[in-house]
Amino acid sequence: MGTKGREIVGVNVDKLLKMMNKAYADEWLAHYQYWVGAKVATGRMRGIVAEELAEHAEEELKHAEMLAERILQLGGTLLITPEALLKENNCGYDAPTDPSTKALLDQNIKGEQCAIDTYKKLFDFVQGKDPITEKIILEILEDEVEHEDDLQMMLEDMKEPVSAKPVIAAKPVKAKPAKTKK
Ligand code: FE
Ligand code: FE
Ligand code: MG
Repeated sequence: MGTKGREIVGVNVDKLLKMMNKAYADEWLAHYQYWVGAKVATGRMRGIVAEELAEHAEEELKHAEMLAERILQLGGTLLITPEALLKENNCGYDAPTDPSTKALLDQNIKGEQCAIDTYKKLFDFVQGKDPITEKIILEILEDEVEHEDDLQMMLEDMKEPVSAKPVIAAKPVKAKPAKTKK
């Protein structure tokens, strides 16, 4: 990377790169976990859940891209094999062996909670010492917090019994009685 650009990074760059590469692996695994989950989802609210999972899959891929650019800018190297992604990560990979929407939401909520922990640690590590990385990490952390909330809300919606919201028929509009001339 540019020499001056590296000079202003006030943390141990090797340690930072190691942390960022692990987060990068998490993003690829999360991307695939969401992507394949969206394909195999079955059961309650399948359409809505699959749509949300597919959207998160895209967002995790965007995170991988943001991290990759910064890793390379800092003079690091990227993990280049699936084996390395599976080995060098924080949050692991949960295969959607149970494709029910409830199980998919549960396992992805767990993943998001791990991601939030990971990015909070990264944020604390660079805060005030590497403003460029700090900005990237904060942006990703915001997304992960939103992801967890989205999934937990869906799980809540799913708990409601189908009959809990009775459909109330619209009240017929009463026609005003015509004024009668006296
Ligand atoms: Fe992510
Ligand atoms: Fe996420
Ligand atoms: Mg969402």
